[in-house]
Amino acid sequence: MAQTEPVQNPASGPDPEGPLRGIAAGPGAAVAPVARMADPPALPAQEPVVDDPAAEEGAALAALDEVGAELDTRAADVEGEAAAVLSTLALMARDPDLRRQIGELARGGRPAAWAVHTACGRYQELLLAAGGYLAERAADLADIRDRAVAVLLGLPMPGLPDPGHPYVLVARDLAPADTVRLDPAKVKAIVTRLGGPTSHTVILARSLGLPAVVGCSGAEHLVDGATVAVDGDAGTVEVDPDAEIVERIQGRAERRRILLAESGGPGRTADGVPIALLLNAGEGDSDEAGAHDSEGIGLLRTEFLFLDRAEPPTVAEQTEAYTRLFRAFAGRVVTVRTLDAGSDKPLEFAPTGEEANPALGVRGFRTSKLHPRLLTDQLTAISAAEHAAAADGASARVRVMAPMVSTPAEAGEFAELARSAGITEAGVMVEVPAAALLADRLLRRVDFVSIGTNDLAQYTMGADRTLESLPELLDPWQPSLLHLLAKVGRAGETLGRPVGVCGEAAADPLLAVVLVGLGATSLSMASPALPAVRYVLSRHSHAECRRLAELALAADDPERARKVVREAAHPEALRL
Ligand code: PEP
Ligand code: MG
Repeated sequence: MAQTEPVQNPASGPDPEGPLRGIAAGPGAAVAPVARMADPPALPAQEPVVDDPAAEEGAALAALDEVGAELDTRAADVEGEAAAVLSTLALMARDPDLRRQIGELARGGRPAAWAVHTACGRYQELLLAAGGYLAERAADLADIRDRAVAVLLGLPMPGLPDPGHPYVLVARDLAPADTVRLDPAKVKAIVTRLGGPTSHTVILARSLGLPAVVGCSGAEHLVDGATVAVDGDAGTVEVDPDAEIVERIQGRAERRRILLAESGGPGRTADGVPIALLLNAGEGDSDEAGAHDSEGIGLLRTEFLFLDRAEPPTVAEQTEAYTRLFRAFAGRVVTVRTLDAGSDKPLEFAPTGEEANPALGVRGFRTSKLHPRLLTDQLTAISAAEHAAAADGASARVRVMAPMVSTPAEAGEFAELARSAGITEAGVMVEVPAAALLADRLLRRVDFVSIGTNDLAQYTMGADRTLESLPELLDPWQPSLLHLLAKVGRAGETLGRPVGVCGEAAADPLLAVVLVGLGATSLSMASPALPAVRYVLSRHSHAECRRLAELALAADDPERARKVVREAAHPEALRL
C-alpha cells in the first residue's frame, strides 16, 4: 500500500456540486453518519535530549512487547483470517532485526519514540523498494510503529472509532489490524482517501460484502457526524444527500438484502444452463469455507501455507491441510492452484536471482524450473490428501492448476507432472496474453483452464497491478481484455473443455454475465460476492449473456462497455 498522498490535479478535481468520486470497491450502497479513523500519532516537533539511553532502549522494547501482547490478545478473540493477520502483526513487533535497530538508535541517544519511528521508517523503505507483496507489508509496519509510538507518548491507541451507532468509516487508509476487526453490524460502508483496485481495503470490503469507495478525492474533508450516501457500485460519496437520494439508497439496500437472501443453490442462467459458482479460498477455516452455499472451490491460493516461512512446509504438513479441506468439500470440486511464488509473492526459500522486473521474471509455474521439488512435493501432498479424504469415505473432486503458464509446452509439462503424481484432472491458469492467444493448443494438453483476470489485465495492459496510479487500465471491463477472454471461451466451446474465471472480474455481477456470454463455464469469487452473481445470472438466458458480451466487445473503453451492458441488461438484474 502506498504511503504517499496522491497528487491532486486541480484541472480534473471533483465537481464542487457533485458527489465525491473514487474507485468502486465494494458492492451495494448505504447512508449513515461519518466516523473518522483517528490520525496516527505524530511525534512532537522538538526531539527531547536523552540522558539515560539504556532507559530509552528499555522503554522502546517494552512498548513493542506491549503492542505484540495486545495484538496476540485480540488474535485470540477472533478466528480464521482475522486471527492470522493479527498474529502476523504480533510477530512483526517481535522481529529481532527491528528490535536490534531500535536498540542501536536508542543507545545512540535517540528518545524511545523517535528510535521506533526511525527504525520502522527504514524498514518500510526497504519493503517498499522490494515492491509487490513485500511493499504491501509496509502498511503493517506503519501500524506497529503507530501503536508503539502511541504507547510511548501516552496517546490513545490508533484504531477504529466507536461512536455508539452505525457509521460510515472514513480513513486516510486502513491498516490490516483495523480492517480485520471491522464489525459489519456497525460499519455500514468504507471510504478511504488512498487505496487502489487491489488494495487490502478492497479485498476486505468484498469479503465482508460492505459498500466501499477507495482512492476517494475529498474524503479528507469529510467530518464526523456528516451524513453521507456511499454508492460502492458507482464509486460515489454524496455529502448531506437529499431525502430522495436517501430513500433511493435505503430502498436499494433493503431490496438487495431481500433478493440475495432468496437466491441460493447451483448457478444457472434463466434458461437453466449450469454455470458453476465457486469460491476463491486461501488461509482460513476449512469448515467455515465449506459451509458457504457454493459448488466448490475454483481457486485455492496455496501460498498461505508457504508465505512468511524460512523453509517450505513438509509434504506431511501440506497433506494435513489439504485433507481437511477436501473433507470439508466432500462431493464438491476443489481446484488447488499450485504455489504461485515470485514477483508479488517472493519466498525466502525459493530465490529467483536478481530481477529488474520481477512481474516479468521467474514466477508461478516458472519457479518450478529453478526449484522443482517445491512443485513435485506439493503435487504429492495433494494426491495423498485426496486419498486420505477418500479413505474416510468423503473427498472433494480434486483438480490442480498451475499459475503463470505461457506456452502449450508448459501446459503439457504440468499436466504430465500432475498425472504422474496420481492427480486425474489437471489444468492451467490463463494469466498472460500468450496463453489466451493459443488457448486451444493449451486446452488440448490439459483438462480445463481458469482465467486469472487480475494478472491477465496487468499483462494485457502493461500496467503493474500493485500500482494505485493506473486503475483505469486495470479495469476488468477493458474491451481488449474481454477480447482475449472471448478467444479462450471460443477455444473451450470448440473443444468441449471447461473454461473458468477466477480473477476479481468474476465478482462483478454484470461482468459475470458478460463472462458467461464469452464462454465461461464456471465463475469463482470471494464468498460474499456469490449471491449477487447468482441472482443476476439467473435473470439472463444464455443467449442474452452472449448478446451482452457482444455489446461489451464492441465498446471502445470500459465506461462505454459498462454503460451499454447496463442499458441492455434485464431490468430486474439492475434492481440490486
Ligand atoms: C489472477 O491473477 O487473476 C488470480 C486469480 O491470481 P492472483 O490474484 O492470486 O495472482
Ligand atoms: Mg494471478
